[in-house]
Amino acid sequence: MTTNSPLTPDMKLIDPPSLPTGPPVGGDNAPGPPVGADGAPGPPSGDDEALKMFLVRPTADPLSGAFDRKFVIHAGLASKPTPPEEIQAAYERLLESRPDRGLGLYVHIPFCRSQCLYCGFGGPRPEPAVAAAYVEALLAELEWLKDKAAAAGPVRVIYLGGGTPTSLAPDLLGRLMDSVGKNLDLANDCEITLEGRLHDFTPEKTSGFLAAGFNRFSIGVQSFDTRIRQSLGRLSPRATVVEYLENLISRQKAAVIIDLIYGLPGQSPDDFIDDLKQAEALGLDGLDAYQLNIFKGGQLAGAIESGRLTEAAPLSAQGEYYRRAGEYLLGRRWRQLSLSHFALSARERNLYNPWAKRRGDCLALGAGAGGFFSGWSFYRRPRVEAYLEACRRGLFLPDALSPPAPNGRLVSFIVEQMEQGYLNHRRLTEDFMADPAPLRLLLENWAENGLMIMDDEWATMTMTGRFWGVNLTQAVIETASRNMKENQQ
Ligand code: SF4
Repeated sequence: MTTNSPLTPDMKLIDPPSLPTGPPVGGDNAPGPPVGADGAPGPPSGDDEALKMFLVRPTADPLSGAFDRKFVIHAGLASKPTPPEEIQAAYERLLESRPDRGLGLYVHIPFCRSQCLYCGFGGPRPEPAVAAAYVEALLAELEWLKDKAAAAGPVRVIYLGGGTPTSLAPDLLGRLMDSVGKNLDLANDCEITLEGRLHDFTPEKTSGFLAAGFNRFSIGVQSFDTRIRQSLGRLSPRATVVEYLENLISRQKAAVIIDLIYGLPGQSPDDFIDDLKQAEALGLDGLDAYQLNIFKGGQLAGAIESGRLTEAAPLSAQGEYYRRAGEYLLGRRWRQLSLSHFALSARERNLYNPWAKRRGDCLALGAGAGGFFSGWSFYRRPRVEAYLEACRRGLFLPDALSPPAPNGRLVSFIVEQMEQGYLNHRRLTEDFMADPAPLRLLLENWAENGLMIMDDEWATMTMTGRFWGVNLTQAVIETASRNMKENQQ
């Protein structure tokens, strides 16, 4: 499927992977624009290009053109990465602390049977010997972790992402989950997600996945439309997709959610609404509606450039897909749990992605995995062979480790809320900000342009605001970080 590590949780089809900490905001933590004499927000100073960049473009229809691009969410203020020779000692010290609000566990399974046109996260084929060795390495890492204070748990969310985790044989996944259960303390209501491709959910493999203990399946369908699927190289027609999902849903032993993409080549907004109707008719527990992102130099970009595929919907048209989708689903009493995620049943909780986005304590295993713990970020390079070799040598270490960013608490506060479509701006300004005026100016600009609804405590995104949610989030992070109270740094 698509990458779902804590570093790039479910913005996966919107944003390219980013490292745990991004480049500094403007190079430092400079103060923001002045406040007017009466305490009202002053205008942005002429040279405050950063703030202007986040104001809605004046002549635009906000849904199609509030901004000229989508931003990538990053913390802005980078902490100094730990020098490679100090990573081992620093990581082991870090694992001596206990998790704060429970623990998450992310396991990266990098293998893919084939490379999908629209995806920038594909990995190597799961050759049986390599796949078995990979699971052995994960077991060894779990064994190594079990006595660390950081592993104390309780583990509240587990996510197997990739790559294609379902490309592994169920007995390998069963061994992995046995070890997770033996070595970690799982919360009774732990959400345990297995990400995968539909064709791996044969009746026999599904029984194996359920026996392994997964209670939530996340499946990349992308589109039900046979014509669109086949143009993207997904050869099974709608009827086959529906049959697989019906069989899976009929088990009633786990939540079933799917990914859908809007803005695909040859797909109209009506086609996307048809996909949503199909999802609803199936009785799925939830779905993600992801915006298509075309990776420069990727296969999809090449297919469009060569004329093999028609143009995909440009950014200026994608908002219409999102607005119509949101209105359709909410009108049908789906619940919107995040900017991209909608739930139909009460069974669906969608715990992992918000956990990762707020940088909750999360151990991360496997090549290409990354996580956060006590505000520290860590990351392992996605090279399978290097991971296997390191594990053989007993080196269960990240390749990169960074202490908490100066604005780490602030970022968690903002992202956790904005991901759900709202912001308690009063608490943000009272608790974190020395100068609230620039933030107020932004929020008022967005409210005037239909992106937010404001009262004196909350700012709540409209559907237009949710479409631009990553931009609004990054704008709030940067603006609040520039104006942070000294004691919050
Ligand atoms: S299976 Fe396809 S969509 Fe999933 S990670 Fe691999 S290449 Fe990407």
